Amino acid sequence: MTDIVIIGGGAAGLAAAVTAAREAPGATVTVLERDARVGKKLLVTGNGRCNLTNRSGLQGRYAGDEAFARAAFARFGVDDTLALMEELGVNCVMLEEGKVYPRSLQAGSVADQLRLAAQEAGAALVTDQTVTRLAPDQGGWQITTQTGTLSARRVLVATGGKAGVGRYNGPTGYDLLQALGHTVTPLFPAIVQLTTETAPIKPLTGIKTQGVVTLRTLTGTRREAGEILFTEYGLSGPPVLQVSRLLGPGGTGRATLDLLPDLTEEAVAAEIDRRRAKFGKRPCEDLLLGFMNKRLGQTVIKRAGIEKLSRPAGTLTGAETAAIARTAKGFELAVTGTRGFGAAQVTAGGVNTDDFDPATMESKRAPGVYAAGEVLNVTGDCGGFNLQWAWTSGVLAGRAMARGLTT
Ligand SMILES: Cc1cc2nc3c(=O)[nH]c(=O)nc-3n(C[C@H](O)[C@H](O)[C@H](O)COP(=O)(O)OP(=O)(O)OC[C@H]3O[C@@H](n4cnc5c(N)ncnc54)[C@H](O)[C@@H]3O)c2cc1C
Repeated sequence: MTDIVIIGGGAAGLAAAVTAAREAPGATVTVLERDARVGKKLLVTGNGRCNLTNRSGLQGRYAGDEAFARAAFARFGVDDTLALMEELGVNCVMLEEGKVYPRSLQAGSVADQLRLAAQEAGAALVTDQTVTRLAPDQGGWQITTQTGTLSARRVLVATGGKAGVGRYNGPTGYDLLQALGHTVTPLFPAIVQLTTETAPIKPLTGIKTQGVVTLRTLTGTRREAGEILFTEYGLSGPPVLQVSRLLGPGGTGRATLDLLPDLTEEAVAAEIDRRRAKFGKRPCEDLLLGFMNKRLGQTVIKRAGIEKLSRPAGTLTGAETAAIARTAKGFELAVTGTRGFGAAQVTAGGVNTDDFDPATMESKRAPGVYAAGEVLNVTGDCGGFNLQWAWTSGVLAGRAMARGLTT
């Protein structure tokens, strides 16, 4: 019988493997990974640079079972992650907004150091193994893969979520844990692009602009500032990804874009009035040249109700210039949904943590079974918060699984 089997060789599974193998020397630790290599998703994180945690504070950065996450972070927090990374040989640098990266700015270096440390500590990393079943077995657990079965005293489910996974249709960690009586909250994509009505922004595809996005849904409002990207399907860019979780499962809403966030509406209106007086003979389509991105300015003027852009700017009424200023400060778009799990960075929702202990990640329903990472109902903001959750829950599970196994 294997002492510890870890299902899933991602961020949480590898952190657990390193911890368990180090803390229970002599114990057998096996990682079963569906993919041809471990840590594959880590390679694409942070645009290939791996934004591995965030130093601006974890408070208010998580949704789902937030209290459970807080209890876990009290036991293994950001400083512990930084110490672990340094110890692994991953020197860290902090860039914008508290985001922490490996000094190499190569996500592969984080995956490699975890893999090497796990192997050096004695963990076996077995790839191309999809776990299809987890069931009780004579005081331990039987794990079935497409090639056979093995028994383990302790098992960690660290299978991640549905985000960014591609077209995998086989058994998931959600299935494995549900079969043991666990419940799963509705799953939906988060940190994902928004689909919107497209007609008003058709000419804007590819344009990036600094702005503020306010998303309103039936459940609340969230506002974020940063670079907004207009696309053929709707909106992307960091602030858009950050607000997307508010949509919930299958939700819709309204986005309001402040396209001139550094100016008040009065200041924008005054500038438009000045331009109308100075360039009155020019067509409206040139009114905002040099003030805003050209196509963005023309789209704002149209959206404000000025249909004929060839009209001389001098013919605009006071009400019309006020409408242009109002639109630039609050460009409204109906949000129809998101780009889905394939495009998302994280799965919101997951296995209900009421049935787990936040100190150990052990199941209360199935003692000896543990869960960590994205499979649980803990979802972080964009900015390193999801990997922080993977490290925290993985290390705590690794420690707890190692307890009592040392020979
Ligand atoms: C494009 C992209 C960019 C991201 N950037 C960042 C970032 O910069 N910072 C950040 O904090 N977060 C980022 N995230 C989110 C972060 O990658 C995840 O939250 C994190 O990897 C979750 O860790 P995990 O170990 O729970 O799951 P994963 O890392 O997904 O690992 C789960 C592993 O389990 C394996 N597995 C699944 N089912 C089975 C099975 N049945 N049998 C065997 N193996 C199985 C999978 O193949 C996978 O290797 C990003 C995500 C994406 C998609």
